[in-house]
Amino acid sequence: MSNDIRNTVILGSGCSGLTAAIYAARANLKPLVLEGHEPGGQLSLTTLVENFPGFPEGIQGPQLIENMKAQAARFGAEFRHGHVASAELGSHPFKLRVGKDTIETRTVIIASGATARWLGLPNEQALIGHGVSSCATCDGFFFSGKEIAVIGGGDSAMEEALFLTRFATKVTVIHRRDGFRASKIMLERAQSHEKIHFILNTVVDDVYDIEKKEVTGLLLRNMNTQQTHVLPVSALFLGIGHIPNAKAFAGQLDTDEDGYIKTRDYVFTGVPGVFASGDVQDRRYRQAITAAGTGCMAAIEVERFLEEQGR
Ligand code: NAP
Repeated sequence: MSNDIRNTVILGSGCSGLTAAIYAARANLKPLVLEGHEPGGQLSLTTLVENFPGFPEGIQGPQLIENMKAQAARFGAEFRHGHVASAELGSHPFKLRVGKDTIETRTVIIASGATARWLGLPNEQALIGHGVSSCATCDGFFFSGKEIAVIGGGDSAMEEALFLTRFATKVTVIHRRDGFRASKIMLERAQSHEKIHFILNTVVDDVYDIEKKEVTGLLLRNMNTQQTHVLPVSALFLGIGHIPNAKAFAGQLDTDEDGYIKTRDYVFTGVPGVFASGDVQDRRYRQAITAAGTGCMAAIEVERFLEEQGR
C-alpha cells in the first residue's frame, strides 16, 4: 500500500458503503472501499428485493450490489479486500490498520453494517455449517425435503421461514415470547402459510447431535412451564437480529448499549471527519434504502469537511 494520505476511506461494501463510494467518487475524492468480512453486506445474502425504489419487478440483492459496485468503480472508486482491525482516530491523519498495512486518511466513513446474532450455545457454534446457519438464502437449499426450525419473532425470522418453505416440508418458528416484533404483513404471511408452524414462549437449550456432526433435533424449553421436549429437525436457522460491526472503534466513538455507533444529524460521530452510515449506526430502520440514504449523506459531509479543511 502506498504511503499517500487518502481523502476518504469507506469501511464496508454493502449498499451504504457503495452509495457513499458513488458519491465520493463522483466528487473526485478517489475513495478507497475496504470490503470487510462480508463483502456486499446483507443484500448479497438475500434473494429478491422488492422494496428498493426503481425496480417495479424487484431485483436480486446480489445484482443490486453488483450494479452499485460497478457504478462506484466507473467513477474511480478503488476496492480492496480486508477489514480494519484497529484505528487511531485521536490525531490527523487518521490511521487504519488493515492486516500488516496502515492506511492514512483525512476522513473515514464507517459503513461496516451489522452481523447476524447467534444464541451462543456450545453445540450451536460447533454445528455451524453442519445444519446451523444464519443465512436461509445461502443454506436453505441443502435442506430440501427436510424439517427446519427458525428462531426469532422479528421480520428476519419471518422472512427466513417463508423463504425456507421453498425447500422444507415443514418450518417451525420458535419464539421466546408470544408477542412479535415482525411487521403485520410479514407475520400474517408466515402465519397463513401451510408449511409454517409456531412454537411460542419457548427457547432452545441445546442442539443435537454433536457426535453425528449434523443437526438432528433441538432441546426446547417452555418459558412458562419450564417443561422440555426434543423437536426433531434437520436444520436450525437463526433470525434473532444483528450485532453492529464497530469493535475496531471501541472507546473512540460513542456507542449505545448494543454497540451501535451513536450519530447526530444522521451521520456525524463525535470525531470531526469520521462519519457513520447504514446499519452500524441505525437500529431503527435498517433498510437498504435508508442505508443507501445515509451513505449518500456521509459522502456529502466528507466533501464539505475536506472543503472546510482547504482540500
Ligand atoms: P429484530 O426485529 O430485533 O427481532 C429479533 C427477534 O429475535 C426478536 O423477536 C427477539 O425476541 C429475538 N431474539 C433476540 N435475541 C434472542 C435470543 N438470544 N434468543 C431468542 N430470541 C432472540 O431483528 P430482525 O428481525 O433482524 O429485524 C431487524 C430490522 O430489519 C427490523 O426493523 C425489521 O423490520 C427489518 N427487516 C425487514 C425485512 C423486510 O422488510 N423484508 C426483513 C428483515 C428485517 P424478542 O422480541 O423477545 O426481543
